[in-house]
Amino acid sequence: MGTFELIFSQDDDRLGGPSGQKRLGSAVLLYNALWFTRVRWIVVFVFTILGLTGTLMPGRWKNAGLVPPTRWPWVLAGTLIMANIFFYIFTRRLNEDSPNRAVEANIWLQIIVDLIVVTVMVHMIGSTITFIAFTYLFHIALACIFFPQKYSLLVTLLAAFLYIFTVVLEILEVLPAAGVLTETTRLYKQGPHMVMIIAGSAVFVWLVVWYFISSLSTAVRKRDQQLATANAQLIKADEEKTQKMLITTHELKAPFAGIESNIQVLKYQFWNEIPESVKELINRIDVRAQTLRERITQILVLGDLKTRPTDEKLSEPVDLKSVMDTVIENINEKAMERNVILDVNVPSTSALGNKEDLRILFSNLVTNAIVYSNEGGRVKISTKQVEDEVLLSVSDYGIGIRDDALPHIFEEYYRTKEASKFNKMSTGLGLSIVKEIVRNLGLRMRVTSKEEEGTTFEVAIPVAGMPHSRLV
Ligand code: ADP
Repeated sequence: MGTFELIFSQDDDRLGGPSGQKRLGSAVLLYNALWFTRVRWIVVFVFTILGLTGTLMPGRWKNAGLVPPTRWPWVLAGTLIMANIFFYIFTRRLNEDSPNRAVEANIWLQIIVDLIVVTVMVHMIGSTITFIAFTYLFHIALACIFFPQKYSLLVTLLAAFLYIFTVVLEILEVLPAAGVLTETTRLYKQGPHMVMIIAGSAVFVWLVVWYFISSLSTAVRKRDQQLATANAQLIKADEEKTQKMLITTHELKAPFAGIESNIQVLKYQFWNEIPESVKELINRIDVRAQTLRERITQILVLGDLKTRPTDEKLSEPVDLKSVMDTVIENINEKAMERNVILDVNVPSTSALGNKEDLRILFSNLVTNAIVYSNEGGRVKISTKQVEDEVLLSVSDYGIGIRDDALPHIFEEYYRTKEASKFNKMSTGLGLSIVKEIVRNLGLRMRVTSKEEEGTTFEVAIPVAGMPHSRLV
């Protein structure tokens, strides 16, 4: 037994174009802000390990010629824990629709706090006697990736200022001598200009790294923008093409209606005069013309659903019983042709939707259930209310759907081999139409099926007049 649920991702809203890019910007920045807070927990962990080993095993540090870190890792870990809790709450309050400015302010605040923590750590480990000053590069690189070039330069200059300022305070002995290497103090006294050369060369390396990464990021971002513009143009061109195709398809309706009406004339007025072999030919033309008309109608319905403006207000209170009654009335003949019993239990319920769309949705599900049932089968159609939703279910005991085919049945023109043998009029468009309606009305849908045992389609429709958390 297989189950498949129709799920629409948030970016799957056919937005495209400039407004889509803006929302993506906020979403990406927000993701980055949360990523920053997650990485900071790793740093907290590293500081805790340093503090623990420095406090509990000072001998090991001393044996290695290092000064055991006792207080500063704890202070920095504590600062980062408090900052991280604050940032986490701040970031969680923002969402994709928050203005870019708020998300950027969050990231800037995180960068500034981190740079201050890095500066204290650099001072305590040894600003010019170890390679620790290169930890600033981590932030410089991230700023190059997340921000435009001038902002990443600002981060680089801020880091350089904090670092050089610390080194100068160390030389002037305003800051107490520090560092994990035991000869730290002696090195300062040996020559302040040498210390400045070391610090200056570190900053020089940062600037070179900033230049390369920010130039590369700018090039990538520019290409990204070009791709977004090209994508928007492609979407527009595709929409224009669809419109033209829909007009042409629409124009095909008339000639086919003509063929069908001529066949009716032949059947009702001249049928007895026509030889048997020609009758067979006419019947075949009749079936083909009907199939094509059906396909044209479905292409037009699908085109209409896909080109509907996304901001169009669609939902209104609709009585599900009256919609289902219309569907059953139109479909009864088909059920009788195939000897299929329709077991309908849809009481009057006011749900949120669009009458015509719901009619098409129900009609496609019930038609499929009849068509893919075995001769003399039974189709059960029922609704039940679950909290703020009505669950409509359409079950048949027919050919069922293979597990591997189940995820594809909502794709345009998809038909299983078994189905096309079973249903000569099959177009593979019915469920694509269902999918568009489910998406447009913000419904949910699930299919459960077992080969040769049957299929159940379930649609959740919001009850009218109740607050709905799931609706978009
Ligand atoms: P069509 O029925 O015209 O082929 P649909 O888009 O309505 O197109 O359905 C796509 C495919 O999904 C069908 O070809 C069939 O393989 C499968 N399918 C849909 N409904 C059922 C059902 N009730 N029972 C078995 N298979 C089904």
